[in-house]
Amino acid sequence: MDLQTQLVHPPCSDGEPTGSSSTPIYQSATFGISDDGRWDYSRSGNPTREVVETQLALLDDARYALAYASGVSALASVFRLVPAGGTIVCGRDVYGGTFRLLDLLSRDYSLNVSYVDTSDESAPATIAALNPDLVFVEVPSNPLLKSTNVEALRTALPPSTLLAVDSSMLSPVRYRPLQYHADLAIQSGTKLLGGHGDLTAGVVSTNNPELQERLRFRQNAEGTALAPFESWLLIRGLQTLPLRLERQLENTSRLLELLAAHPVVEQVFYPADEAQQGPVVSFTTGSREASADVIAATSLFRTTVSFGSVFSSISLPCSMSHASVPASLRGVCDLPTDLIRVAVGIESHEDLCADLLQALDSVEAVLAS
Ligand SMILES: *Cc1c(COP(=O)(O)O)cnc(C)c1O
Repeated sequence: MDLQTQLVHPPCSDGEPTGSSSTPIYQSATFGISDDGRWDYSRSGNPTREVVETQLALLDDARYALAYASGVSALASVFRLVPAGGTIVCGRDVYGGTFRLLDLLSRDYSLNVSYVDTSDESAPATIAALNPDLVFVEVPSNPLLKSTNVEALRTALPPSTLLAVDSSMLSPVRYRPLQYHADLAIQSGTKLLGGHGDLTAGVVSTNNPELQERLRFRQNAEGTALAPFESWLLIRGLQTLPLRLERQLENTSRLLELLAAHPVVEQVFYPADEAQQGPVVSFTTGSREASADVIAATSLFRTTVSFGSVFSSISLPCSMSHASVPASLRGVCDLPTDLIRVAVGIESHEDLCADLLQALDSVEAVLAS
């Protein structure tokens, strides 16, 4: 069956006697001890979470998917598969919170973390020479939207090196990392998967039974799993994911046309590889003040961090989503201060284009005066 069809029809939880059309929320910490011992405590397993994990595995075309309380808890669980003193190679242009997390873990566990521009053609050889335990990339990168050839990376690395790919910017509807032979696929469910800006969640998918067992053990030991109500919200969000994304991509292409033609726009950043093109686009104006003015002049785009929601938003990554980058890593995460990131929602493209156009026009008028 088609993915959209399967997402609309989540499997009914086992033993659900009412035929309820919405997945029941098992808002319970404990379950009666049964002969099969399947459910006992929600930290270890919860029927609502099991349904969302089934849907998430389907989405990634993976054998296993684990739902976490947030994208960063999913990332932390993956990074900590690396033994203390081990080596992680990370892309240079990644989510601000990922820099902060790696900085923290590198100190707590004496990890060696190297940052490499994975969009560079020479990256696979450069990275293989570092002999890392784990390589982590974002596809596409955030917020500069560079493409990375994941398959070429996998080919260059020995089988013992884990390859983990975060494709939160695209969702598995557009890009399934495991198909490109990544060992682990990571998503922030807070973004496109939930899609309404109303929950935080994270996902790790894998086809490797040993990795899923290690992750599952930790998830229970550390209590990082997604709660029942958030699991339900995510199940509901997933039902419309392909539909939302189709509309978001259509809107994005209209906005890209507008940006390409406007004199205030200096450079547009959007993935070169069509398979890695999602509903986020970045651009520069040549000055931080002009960029701040463009943002202030929009009225339909919310000035918020994050992306992937039904509503559009606009931000200055340097002072917003990437403000969490530790000072010691500012040299690695060297973003243009005038970079504007636009996260495209499902509004009418006429309204979005009209609003962005009037904002750009107003800044053009000021610059000309
Ligand atoms: C937001 C984001 C994360 C972190 O997810 P949270 O749900 O906010 O914890 C990780 N990676 C990428 C690419 C993100 O955009």
